[in-house]
Amino acid sequence: MYAYELHLHTAESSRCGHVPAAEQVRVYKALGYAGVCVTDHLHDGYYEPSLDGAGWREAMERYLRGYRAAKAAGDALGMDVILGAELRFPENTRDYLVFGIDEDWLMQNPHMCHLNHRQFFDRFGSEVLIVHAHPFRDNDEVDWGAVHGLEIVNTCPRHDSRNDRALALCQAHPELFPTVGSDAHRNGDQGRSAMLFETRITDSFAMMDALRARTYRLRCPSREDIIAESEALLHV
Ligand SMILES: [Zn+2]
Ligand SMILES: [Zn+2]
Repeated sequence: MYAYELHLHTAESSRCGHVPAAEQVRVYKALGYAGVCVTDHLHDGYYEPSLDGAGWREAMERYLRGYRAAKAAGDALGMDVILGAELRFPENTRDYLVFGIDEDWLMQNPHMCHLNHRQFFDRFGSEVLIVHAHPFRDNDEVDWGAVHGLEIVNTCPRHDSRNDRALALCQAHPELFPTVGSDAHRNGDQGRSAMLFETRITDSFAMMDALRARTYRLRCPSREDIIAESEALLHV
């Protein structure tokens, strides 16, 4: 099967990212992955200049620097580099991974991150895929009716993401699909978990389709217990 990282940040586009995009791609290549999703933070506070400032298009040009650098490195190395985003809305500090997008979608939907989560789901929920990242990291409640999937394992070593609770929520709501992600910000974070697919996934739309179809497996050596239980939630 082909391994993909679903949750990764670049130094170019995430203020908290410490690893340049091309280096991220090289590290994942060395770890045997077929590709990575670049899910840089897209919200005020993690982003300079402010997204409220003039020129959304300009802001997106800047936002895309990490993805574009990763894509160029990936093309040279035979790695699939997939555009995603990690959105946060002004109402709270919850994070949402979004797939099924391209550069045009980012350009043509200015200030989508200034909606609230429900408004975003109502407006875009039928065209993009929304995965609640580390749903219980800082929260005890999850609005599970306005997401498509749950990150049941987030292996970022600097946070307690309370992954057991995410698995339990996913089990209670079988309409939600489970994902895992390394949330790679620094060297050492990479490759702690993987999404495994039967075929190569070459863009964000194919990733959306594959997640919807649940024809994948999950890998996380440090949480074999959760992975074993998650198999029942998948169609493999
Ligand atoms: Zn971050
Ligand atoms: Zn993240």
